[in-house]
Amino acid sequence: MLRIVDQAARTDTGRQRHANEDAYFARPPIFVVADGMGGAQAGEVASRIAANAFDEGFEGDDLERNLAERARLANREIFELSREDESRSGMGTTLTAAVFSGNEVGVVHVGDSRAYLFRDGELRQLTRDHSLVEELRRQGRLTTQEAEEHPQRSIITRALGPEPEIEPDVHTHQTRAGDVFLLCSDGLTSMLEPDAIKQILQDRSSLTDAARQMVSEANREGGRDNITVVCFEVGGELEGGDGGPAADETVVNLKAPVVEGPSTRPPRRAEPRPTALRRTPIVAGRKRTRWRRRVVVTGVAVALLAAAVIGASAGIRSVYFIGRDDHGLIALYRGLPYELPGDLRLYGEEYVSSVPAASLTPVERRRLLDHQLRSRGDAAGVIRTIERGERGR
Ligand code: MN
Repeated sequence: MLRIVDQAARTDTGRQRHANEDAYFARPPIFVVADGMGGAQAGEVASRIAANAFDEGFEGDDLERNLAERARLANREIFELSREDESRSGMGTTLTAAVFSGNEVGVVHVGDSRAYLFRDGELRQLTRDHSLVEELRRQGRLTTQEAEEHPQRSIITRALGPEPEIEPDVHTHQTRAGDVFLLCSDGLTSMLEPDAIKQILQDRSSLTDAARQMVSEANREGGRDNITVVCFEVGGELEGGDGGPAADETVVNLKAPVVEGPSTRPPRRAEPRPTALRRTPIVAGRKRTRWRRRVVVTGVAVALLAAAVIGASAGIRSVYFIGRDDHGLIALYRGLPYELPGDLRLYGEEYVSSVPAASLTPVERRRLLDHQLRSRGDAAGVIRTIERGERGR
């Protein structure tokens, strides 16, 4: 029989945020990371609900079904709460949870927090991000490198909270002595390369040491987001049967539980919150830093939301780009030059010119059809210029 021989958990606000919307739960055999969104305290509430959904005993033989059920219950709870309370509307959270069970580890996952397995000196990502850039990367539209550096990389396509039903990813991994499982929020992985994480695990004196170092290195790289790291190591049974304290020791949540109802709410933080952190719907177009606010994009809302997010970050209401339509004509599009699986386009055609793209020189084509995001006026002006045959610009 295998058992958990070491574990650690750490969360940090990072260097640029004023609040920590991440939450975790770490009590063998259950480990959870959740990264909330929704502004004000709504993101904290959502992530705390998700983490606490795994608080109670975890029995039952169907590990995967059990995990999926917890995720669904948490989703439902967050969804209901966000509908009851307007200040919490739109709140949501990622969820990545792992449960150790004898010789396997079950994982349930929604969003872009991650689970990794460190084994034999190699770090393997066990979860697939539910994010816009990951979808585009899998379609071959972005390279891994481009995806990592993409300004819209924090747009997620699945989360707990925004919809009444959720389809979580669930999988089981066979484990063996020496395995280290790592759960983390994107505040770690957007700051540190997998190689850096691997190196820290490789060189660690303990998981506590490794977790501390991951957080401090992510902060050294800028700490642009909340950083949460939860990890545990699987080892063999000790000879003589002394289980030791490691397996039963609880790593306490650093944050007070945040539950609905004023009586159990933690006291408000004394520090003033800057207006930018207050919750406003993304569609309001308030200007903010790109990585500050994440968005869940589902269904048809995708086009409007994504366009609005970029519009918000660029300080303009709408974005346009110039492309080539199905008939080879130069056209003006509103939105983002992306398509999601299921033929879901993030753009719509606004205007089709009479000029075939083929009539442009290759240099002009490259310059004009580069899908660069433009304001409407700029894009329309470029198309007018092309139509007049003045292509000097
Ligand atoms: Mn995050």
